[in-house]
Amino acid sequence: MEFDYVIVGGGSGGATLAARLSEDARVRVCLIEAGGDGRGILVRAPAATVAMLPGRPPINNYALRTEPQPGLDNRRGYQPRGRCLGGSSAINAMLYVRGHREDYDDWERAGCSGWSWGEVLPWFRRAEGNQRGASPLHGADGPLQVADQQTPRAISEDFVRAAVQSGVPFNDDFNGIEQEGAGLYQVTQFHGGARNGERCSAAAAYLHPAMTRPNLAVLTHTQALRVVVEHGRAVGVEVRRGGNVERIHARREVALCGGAFHSPQLLMLSGIGDPAQLQQHGIAVQQALPGVGRNLQDHLDFILAYRSKHRDLFGIGLGASWTLLRQALLWRRTGTGLIATPFAEGGAFV
Ligand SMILES: Cc1cc2nc3c(=O)[nH]c(=O)nc-3n(C[C@H](O)[C@H](O)[C@H](O)COP(=O)(O)OP(=O)(O)OC[C@H]3O[C@@H](n4cnc5c(N)ncnc54)[C@H](O)[C@@H]3O)c2cc1C
Repeated sequence: MEFDYVIVGGGSGGATLAARLSEDARVRVCLIEAGGDGRGILVRAPAATVAMLPGRPPINNYALRTEPQPGLDNRRGYQPRGRCLGGSSAINAMLYVRGHREDYDDWERAGCSGWSWGEVLPWFRRAEGNQRGASPLHGADGPLQVADQQTPRAISEDFVRAAVQSGVPFNDDFNGIEQEGAGLYQVTQFHGGARNGERCSAAAAYLHPAMTRPNLAVLTHTQALRVVVEHGRAVGVEVRRGGNVERIHARREVALCGGAFHSPQLLMLSGIGDPAQLQQHGIAVQQALPGVGRNLQDHLDFILAYRSKHRDLFGIGLGASWTLLRQALLWRRTGTGLIATPFAEGGAFV
């Protein structure tokens, strides 16, 4: 098989790239994805992320474990990562929060030209289909659906009120003029129409509507094994598909969109990385690049749990199961209610 562009990974990056590149009918694009099509009910129903996130059993989720972390008393961290079209946007919390404008300007100052706030803003606006309509900071006509939460729970409103009472400013839009403050998140969910209250993954936004294009091949359940490098140039990808190993050739480019863990892993499997580490695993060095697979920075995330008699929360037991059933029916009919929750409904930047 031969294409102009071969993209590995159909997540937030790869799904978007495949759809955008294949808008040009003259180029042939192949997207390789290890997982499934990302259209199932567990992806579409926002609250069903609780079935996927713990990773037991792994559903659309790699459920990775870190090496023992010296900074955490040698405990291993848990790293959920999406494994289907949509990638991590198929299992994430859907919170629509852009980076702080100062961060983009810092990137520009550090030499990353074209990534200043002023230069990325038009692309954010172009991507966004915000329920609140267009404004200088927001787009209304883009494919990525951004909505106010369908039915935020009273306890989240209480959280915001408590933050404001303790002196944190109220913020109605974390992607507005100011990011600082407390408020309810906007979420990447469909708003209005037949899919109201469904998750809008990057695949749902960009890729699924493009999959009938004759110049786009999307290979699901296909594992990229290595990038094929000839004379110092990436010319294709070796994949395992249905028990067979095949080669997919790229006339122009191979783009790795496997995410923060799997893109460097694939580079290393292809002989691109720290020679000492590659040799340990018997991988022939194609290109010595010691930085590959190093310097990962991540944010910690932890959950505090406590007992509550609130009736608008998820619970355990007969009463809670009955509530869940009624809420599931409500969501199927209207897209509203508890099933549309992103769980992290309120937040604060302080
Ligand atoms: C639990 C969780 C919650 C999050 N919550 C939010 C949030 O609320 N808001 C927000 O903005 N961001 C959130 N994020 C972050 C956001 O989802 C990610 O930053 C983003 O999806 C990463 O996109 P990506 O394209 O780099 O990788 P991914 O979306 O992870 O896609 C990588 C894809 O590549 C595929 N792949 C990898 N290796 C191979 C291979 N060798 N062969 C074939 N396919 C391969 C994978 O199966 C996967 O589908 C969250 C992330 C997680 C994990």
